[in-house]
Amino acid sequence: MPSAMSQWLCVLVQTPSHAKLGSVLSYRSESALAPGTLVRVPLGQRDTLGIVWDPDSVQASGELDPGKIRTIAASLDGIAPLDSSWQQLVTFAAQYYQRSLGEVALAALPSQLRDITPAQLQRRLKRNKTPVTAPAKQVPPVATIEKAESAEREPSAEQTSAINQIQRFTGPFLLFGATGSGKTEVYLRCVELLLASEVSAQALVMVPEINLTPQLEARFRQRFVGSYGADAVVSLHSGMTHAQRLKSWLGAHSGNARIVLGTRMAIFASMPNLRLIVVDEEHDPSYKSSEGARYSARDLAIYRGRQMGAKVVLGSATPSLESWQHSRPAAEGGRYLRLHMPSRIGAAASAEMPLVRRVDMNHQPRNAVFSIPLLAAIKDRIARGEQSMVFLNRRGYAPVLHCSECGWKSECPNCSAFRVFHKIDRTLRCHHCGFTERVPRSCPTCGNPDIAPQGRGTERIEEHLAELLAEVRRPGTSSEGYPLGEPVRVARIDADTTRHKGDLQSQLAAVHAGDVDVLVGTQMIAKGHDFRRITLVAAINPDGALFSSDFRAPERLFSLLMQAAGRAGRDASLGSNSEVWIQTFQPAHPLYAALKRHDYPAYAMLQLQEREQAGLPPFTAQALVRAEARTQELAQAFLDAARDAVHSDMAHWDGWADLLSQITLYSAVPMSIQRVANIERAQMLVESPSRSALQQFLTGWHAVLHATRQLPVGKGVIRWAVDVDPLAI
Ligand SMILES: [Zn+2]
Ligand SMILES: [Zn+2]
Repeated sequence: MPSAMSQWLCVLVQTPSHAKLGSVLSYRSESALAPGTLVRVPLGQRDTLGIVWDPDSVQASGELDPGKIRTIAASLDGIAPLDSSWQQLVTFAAQYYQRSLGEVALAALPSQLRDITPAQLQRRLKRNKTPVTAPAKQVPPVATIEKAESAEREPSAEQTSAINQIQRFTGPFLLFGATGSGKTEVYLRCVELLLASEVSAQALVMVPEINLTPQLEARFRQRFVGSYGADAVVSLHSGMTHAQRLKSWLGAHSGNARIVLGTRMAIFASMPNLRLIVVDEEHDPSYKSSEGARYSARDLAIYRGRQMGAKVVLGSATPSLESWQHSRPAAEGGRYLRLHMPSRIGAAASAEMPLVRRVDMNHQPRNAVFSIPLLAAIKDRIARGEQSMVFLNRRGYAPVLHCSECGWKSECPNCSAFRVFHKIDRTLRCHHCGFTERVPRSCPTCGNPDIAPQGRGTERIEEHLAELLAEVRRPGTSSEGYPLGEPVRVARIDADTTRHKGDLQSQLAAVHAGDVDVLVGTQMIAKGHDFRRITLVAAINPDGALFSSDFRAPERLFSLLMQAAGRAGRDASLGSNSEVWIQTFQPAHPLYAALKRHDYPAYAMLQLQEREQAGLPPFTAQALVRAEARTQELAQAFLDAARDAVHSDMAHWDGWADLLSQITLYSAVPMSIQRVANIERAQMLVESPSRSALQQFLTGWHAVLHATRQLPVGKGVIRWAVDVDPLAI
C-alpha cells in the first residue's frame, strides 16, 4: 500500500507500439497531482513525458510489484493540467480509432514538450510572458467595429442570414456556399460576435492545407489584432518550427490565444474556453490523418463541439456526401442545419459562373493531348493578355519508361508500381518508396537504346505546351530584341517545383503579377488560390476518376473541378469570358452534366442514390484492417485467421451473436499498391449498417487481433493497424 507520504498515479506515456507494456503505467509521487498534469517519468533507461490520468477511467498495466513502482521525476508546474474535456476528447479518439490512449494523448501535444526539462520550460514560459503589446480591451464596443468596416465588408443578405442562424441555433451547421460567396467573412463575423459577447471565449478555425493558412492568418490578424492584441491569434500547423508550435500551443492552453488557426492537428489543441469550431473546406481528404491514429479532424470537431457546447460550422462549396446527408431536412433525419449561400459577392458578384465546355475526345486526332478547340481557346486568352490554367493529376514527366523491343518497363524493384520519369534531372523516381536512379542509357534488359516515355505528367505537359505555343507571340511586346513580340510564358506548379519553403509563395506571386501566361500544375493549383486574371481552366484528362476502383474518386473529381471552376472568373471585368474546359471520352457522363450546370445538389443526390443501392458510406460504416509482412500470403493468412476467430471464438462470447449478425467481414485482399519498399500489404474490409455495432465489434476484435499476432500464423506480420472510416479502399 502506498504510504501517506507517497501517492500512486496513473500516467499515460507513449510506449513503442507493440511493446508488452500498455500505455498507462503506475508511478509514485510525493504529492497528489490532478489528472491532466504533465510530468516527466522514468521509462526504461530514460525520462519521458507523461500525463497524469484519472485512475478510475483506465486500467494501468506494467509493474504490479509495489516495491518496484518508480517515482515520477518531475512535474511541469508551469503548465496548468489539461482539462477534463481535453481528456475526454483524447479518450474518445483513442477508442473510436482503435489506438492506445497514450499514443493518441502524447501525439496530441507539441513535440517539443516531449523533450523539454522543467527548467527549460520555466525559461520558455518567462520569455513568453514578455508584456503583451496593446493589452486587449476585453469587450470592444460593437459599434466601433461596425464603423471600421469598409463598405465592401458589409455582409450580403445571404451572409447575414447565415450569420444570424448560426447565432440563433445550436448546430452543427453545414455552410454550403459557392466559391466566391464569402464563407470566410461569415467565419470572421461569427468569431467577432463570439469574442465580443464572451470575455474569455476561444474559437478554432481549421483549413485543410498549410498553404492556405498564411492568407487566412493575414485576414484574421487584420481583423482582430487591433482589438485583442497580437497574442490573440495563433497558428498551429506542421509547417511551423517546434518552438513556434509550442508557443502557439501554450497560448491556446492558457487562454491568451482567443483564435487558433490551424490544420488537422489543431483539433487536439487544448482550448479550455472553446466555443466555436470552423472547419473550412470540410470535404477535403487532408482532414483525415493517413498515419498513426487515423483520425478525421472534421468528425472529431463534431464530437468536440457537442461535448464542450461549442458551435461547429462546416463550410464547403462541394460538401462531403457524409455531411450533405447529415444536413438533409430534420424531418428526414438530418442532424446538421444546412445554410445555403449560392451567390458570389464582391468583385465576383456580377461575374457569371464560368461556362463549362466538354470536348469530346472521341472526335479529336488520336493521341492528341490538347484538342484543337482547347488550344485555340488558350491562344485566344494569350492574345487578350489573360491567363490560363491547365491541370493534370500526375506529376513528373511520364509515369513510365518503356522499351518497345522487349517490353521492359520502369518498375520499382521494391514496390508493385512504376517509377516515374523526371526529365529535369533525368531520374526514375518511385513515388511510393522514394527509390531514385539515373535513367539508364539503354534498356537494362535488351540493350535497346530507344527507351521512350509512356503517358504524361505535368512536366511533359509543360514542355509539350511550350512547343505548341512556340510560334505564338504576346501582344504589345515587340521590341528590338523581339520584333514580333515576346514568346509565351508557360510555368508549372506541383510538388516537384515547390520542395523548398517559400517556393510556392514566390511562384504564386509570379502568377498574380501576370508574369505567367499559362500555368500547368497538379490539383495543388486548383485549391484555394484566388487567381483574378485566370479566365480559362482546363482539365486535360480527368476521366480516370470516373472508373476508379475507389468509390470516392468521382466525388473528389467533382469537387476538384468545381473548385477549379471557382478559380476562373473571380474578376468581374473578365468574368463573362471565363470558361472551364473538360477533355473527355465520356462527354455525356452525369458528373460532367451536373458540373456544366454548377449543380452540386443534383450531383450529390445522384451519388447518394448510387451509394445507397450499393450499400456504401454514408449508408454503411466501414473499417479496414491492414497488415504488412514479407510475403502477401503471410499478411493475408494473419487477417484470415483473425476473421476465422470471429466465428470460432467471438461468436460464443456472451451476447455477441446478435452483434456479429450486423457485421460483415470480407476476405483479405492485396492493397491496391500491394508492395511498397519490399513489404507486402494486405487489407480486410469490415462493414456494418450500424456505426455503434461496428465500434463495439472493433473494440472486441482488437484483443483477438492482438492474440492472433502471438500465434504462429501471426509471426510473419511486421505490423497491423485498423483504419476506421477509411477514405481510400
Ligand atoms: Zn528492351
Ligand atoms: Zn518503390
